[in-house]
Amino acid sequence: MAELFYDDDADLSIIQNRKVAVIGYGSQGHAHALSLRDSGVDVRVGLHEGSKSKAKAEEQGLRVVTPSEAAAEADVIMILVPDPIQGQVYEETIAPNLKDGDALFFGHGLNIRYGFIKPPAGVDVCMVAPKGPGHLVRRQYEEGRGVPCIAAVEQDATGKGFELALSYAKGIGGTRAGVIKTTFTEETETDLFGEQAVLCGGTAALVKAGFETLTEAGYQPEIAYFECLHELKLIVDLMYEGGLEKMRWSVSETAEWGDYVTGPRIITDATKAEMKKVLAEIQDGTFAQQWMDEYHGGLKKYNEYKTQDENSLLATTGKELRKLMSWVNDEEA
Ligand code: NDP
Ligand code: MG
Ligand code: MG
Repeated sequence: MAELFYDDDADLSIIQNRKVAVIGYGSQGHAHALSLRDSGVDVRVGLHEGSKSKAKAEEQGLRVVTPSEAAAEADVIMILVPDPIQGQVYEETIAPNLKDGDALFFGHGLNIRYGFIKPPAGVDVCMVAPKGPGHLVRRQYEEGRGVPCIAAVEQDATGKGFELALSYAKGIGGTRAGVIKTTFTEETETDLFGEQAVLCGGTAALVKAGFETLTEAGYQPEIAYFECLHELKLIVDLMYEGGLEKMRWSVSETAEWGDYVTGPRIITDATKAEMKKVLAEIQDGTFAQQWMDEYHGGLKKYNEYKTQDENSLLATTGKELRKLMSWVNDEEA
């Protein structure tokens, strides 16, 4: 059974007695920096020369310094820059400023799990990863709620790494919703697998294949869009509220029967065998290395895939239809 921790299990004064540097001010960075500050923590934000988010951080009342200065001042350093550049930011700005007893924090375990960052033995290496996008992390905190977090300690130099991680999680509202203890390995591998096989990759491929099957058979793209993409939200909302059971309770018996007999014809034993291969490539580091090579090689394939999907019939159909539905918020797309 997973170990869960709530507000009463965490001591906020631990993080209040440290100096925290949040490196990066994007989706997660802004949420962590602002909420820690509002929890009475001494925070500075570390941003690179020419950063687009610097002005925003300053407007929001935070002190912004360079990543090197932030790392030198602080004894808890949370790295919230994009995963593929963390190694370089670490080498150039953080490593030279680490002292024994400092703590290095992550919001995702990839760089530690695959050895792209190798911290010295004298520092704690901790993770506090909210299980939700950064903007929601901040909004929930402001509303007195929180997004559940997972927390882990990879290297416990001080012997107090987990207490420190829980205290940090409390500072961003995580312990209000619950913090689950994990390891860097479990977090990284399950997160990559989930987003590839189910949440992003699996779902996008399923939507595309369904949409193409209907339009290639001559049905109207608008009908296919509603059927294969738009309605997915309604189904997922039911699953979120009450599992597959609530979804099946709500749909018609005809839909439920089709679910039982057709689902396994779509996601077959072959699909599951491929999922196991995908997992193996995550576990042995193949995926992480390929992604680093792609990123540092100029994102050629990444941009090709992106452009291809952005120009697809699915995308153009959706764009037109969403214009007619003012309640569907497309602002951040
Ligand atoms: P974003 O892409 O939203 O933000 C990146 C930030 O890093 C920006 O503020 C950017 O500045 C800044 N930055 C870029 N280069 C440098 C640099 N050289 N030095 C200092 N700052 C730099 O990142 P996310 O918040 O999405 O991701 C951060 C971490 O959180 C990752 O490890 C990710 O896996 C993890 N995570 C993210 C989640 C999410 O909700 N997105 C969910 C859970 C974990 P600017 O734009 O101003 O140039
Ligand atoms: Mg992820
Ligand atoms: Mg239907």
